[in-house]
Amino acid sequence: MAAKDIDWANLGFGYVKTDKRYVSYFKDGKWDEGAVIEDDMIVMSECAGVLQYAQTIFEGLKAYTAEDGRIVTFRPDLNADRMIESAKRMEMPPFPRERFIDAIEKVVAANKDWVPPYGSGATLYIRPYMFGQNPVIGVKPATDYQFRTFVTPVGPYFKGGAKPITIKVSDFDRAAPRGTGHIKAGLNYAMSLHAIVTAHEEGYDENIYLDPGTRTKIEETGGANVLLVDADGNIVIPKSDSILPSITRRSLAIVAEKYLGLKVTQREVYLSELGDFKECGLCGTAAVISPVGKIVDHGKEICFPSGMEEMGPTTKKLYETLTGIQMGHIEAPEGWVHEIKV
Ligand SMILES: *Cc1c(COP(=O)(O)O)cnc(C)c1O
Repeated sequence: MAAKDIDWANLGFGYVKTDKRYVSYFKDGKWDEGAVIEDDMIVMSECAGVLQYAQTIFEGLKAYTAEDGRIVTFRPDLNADRMIESAKRMEMPPFPRERFIDAIEKVVAANKDWVPPYGSGATLYIRPYMFGQNPVIGVKPATDYQFRTFVTPVGPYFKGGAKPITIKVSDFDRAAPRGTGHIKAGLNYAMSLHAIVTAHEEGYDENIYLDPGTRTKIEETGGANVLLVDADGNIVIPKSDSILPSITRRSLAIVAEKYLGLKVTQREVYLSELGDFKECGLCGTAAVISPVGKIVDHGKEICFPSGMEEMGPTTKKLYETLTGIQMGHIEAPEGWVHEIKV
């Protein structure tokens, strides 16, 4: 295990080419049997659907070494289901659930030497994705697709402690009402690039997006769901049809209720009430929860009482419980931790 000579603690979040990847082709109305291959390059038509009209979707999850030495992933069935929903919305052929999980198992096993050791804080990030491959010039769905999965090792998200971040209420919108905000489509990220580059130039770590219909309610950041702790110490999660259903956030809601005995409410959250909350965190696979210290709305600062030095107490408990479940020192709900035999 972890045979590659890598300085895991200092590894960042960047692409590192690993040994093997998985590919399956969709042609003549069906998926082929799929294979683990070595070639990391993709050759396709200059007019491929993905290149012209951005017909592409993806997923993100991680494999890691648990305390008992097993290589595991966290709730991959939910990634499979979410990718099926993404495919339907994008008029792409869904990749079957059991085949998705099989592909992940195969590609992680084929790259087992790249799985970071327990306790390193590093993980093997898994990127399943799918795109339209054949030439498409009149606007329509492609007929030929590739489903692929590669893995790349990534370093610990929080180096030297989880420092709260400052985020900006964006002037741009992330997802239209009744658009594609609820699916994991590359196009949602393409149009967020200008907003994030602008926010970074202004000194912010992230953008928080409002509901585009009324611009009075908060939705999420570019790549993470919002979770709030109210004055009573309970959890509030913003509700909207254009929020991407984060698996981390859904898992944290269960942890809050079942493990910590907190009340969890999912409802519309107005920008004007943000100052009433005690803590704010951003949920996603990479960080689990990143604490937010401050939200800036056009010069008006909303500072959470948890401050800019450390995670708030509830955020910290949630973080420690979920990471404890993932690593195997806290008992996991049935099916959450999925072993990969290598
Ligand atoms: C992937 C993603 C998330 C996080 O989802 P997880 O399943 O928890 O990793 C949140 N928001 C957006 C927009 C995303 O694309």
